[in-house]
Amino acid sequence: MENLLMWGIYFATFYAFLPGLISRTFGFRVFKKGRVEKEISLTFDDGPDPVYTPQLLDLLARYNAKATFFVVGSHAEQQEELLRRMKAEGHIIGIHNYVHKSNWLMRPRSVKQQIERTGEIIEHATGVRSAYYRPPWGIVNVFDYANLGYLQIILWSAMFGDWRIRVGAERLKKRMLKKLRPGEVMLLHDCGTTFGADKDAPRNMLIALEIYLEEGTKRGYRFVGIEEMIKLTDAARAAHTSFIKKGLISLWLLWERAFHVVFRLKTVGDAGDPAFHYRITTYHGKSVQLAGGGSVTKGDRIAELHFDNKKLSTIAATSKSPVATGIRMLREVEQALPLLANQLAEDAEASDIKAVYGVTMIHRGADRLGFEIYKLPEGWFARSTRVYLRILIRVLTKKQQTAKGKQRRETISPRMLLMPVEIIRGYAALQPNNRQASAERMSVAVERTISAAADEAAQLGTKTTAI
Ligand SMILES: [Zn+2]
Repeated sequence: MENLLMWGIYFATFYAFLPGLISRTFGFRVFKKGRVEKEISLTFDDGPDPVYTPQLLDLLARYNAKATFFVVGSHAEQQEELLRRMKAEGHIIGIHNYVHKSNWLMRPRSVKQQIERTGEIIEHATGVRSAYYRPPWGIVNVFDYANLGYLQIILWSAMFGDWRIRVGAERLKKRMLKKLRPGEVMLLHDCGTTFGADKDAPRNMLIALEIYLEEGTKRGYRFVGIEEMIKLTDAARAAHTSFIKKGLISLWLLWERAFHVVFRLKTVGDAGDPAFHYRITTYHGKSVQLAGGGSVTKGDRIAELHFDNKKLSTIAATSKSPVATGIRMLREVEQALPLLANQLAEDAEASDIKAVYGVTMIHRGADRLGFEIYKLPEGWFARSTRVYLRILIRVLTKKQQTAKGKQRRETISPRMLLMPVEIIRGYAALQPNNRQASAERMSVAVERTISAAADEAAQLGTKTTAI
């Protein structure tokens, strides 16, 4: 019951923070909108146009605005001088197919050729390979995702129908001013010769844009190319993520402190940097026949182990990968076991324990240290432990390595560890010399299990019961 209550409180605390954690996991293959303070990205499609593009460049220069041009290859190859001017004036050039045709109307091979041909035209004129692609009408297909790995797909957050002359400069201006907001990626057109557009529509666009630039500049906005917008957005996301992470970790450590006080955990070894804590409690689980003889049944006294969560978070933060985290955890456990044994030997409360007990992910390495490993009976405790572990792994580790499906479920399974009391006493009985020899022996054992533990460790943090 005590356990149930403790888990209840724990999850109530933690779930409140989950949504922020989950929302950051979306991919970044398609960029639509920035997350910035004062920047706006203007993007111009379908050009370059011999009449309107030079006027547009003049206008942008007057406001020191940097933009992104998604050029149509067949237009661009006749306007190499304009491409060079765009580059010279600090604008970004992206690809918008060779002819203005939807990717749905072309075979994948044709799409690829269109993109490559346009890329070559840009590179030939400016010496720079384009890194950005905007499909006509924003229509991407599966192929675009699969084969355009070197190109970042850029869509938009706002469009205004500026390709139609009947919209008029006045209405266009109003529509645009509504989107005078940080992070917007504005879709405009500097050429009206593509199918469905009006040839002189860009004239209205230029009138509306001038007012937009004037008003934006007054309000302190910066007009930046898509490259800078993406960079700023990435930085903002990373800062936000680490902010959430830090918050979660300190919350978790706070919880642990409270837990230690409430359940009076005893610390093993150096109080400043402990590896374990334990408490003497009563076993509530199913009866277990120990491999070495004897059994642990309901009502038996046990020492319940808790890995120090602060140590765990430090190890995780300084390890390059979850695998490395797992390996270092294993070593910590190995080194701390003799200390634990000595302390248990002197602890009057521990005189009648039948075993040392814990719940953890590091089970393959643990058996070499003398633990016996048992599946947690499927049920509420096992399920909630798994959920907890997944969250913990995401929060603590730098990079998530994902195994798939069944394998993932398997590797994420927590196990119950039991070490018969005779074995832990054996750790205490070791004389210093023997202890060293034994420690070396164990080190070898641990090394040997590292490769076996690696795939498991890839998924783990460790859960201790200290939650
Ligand atoms: Zn277009």
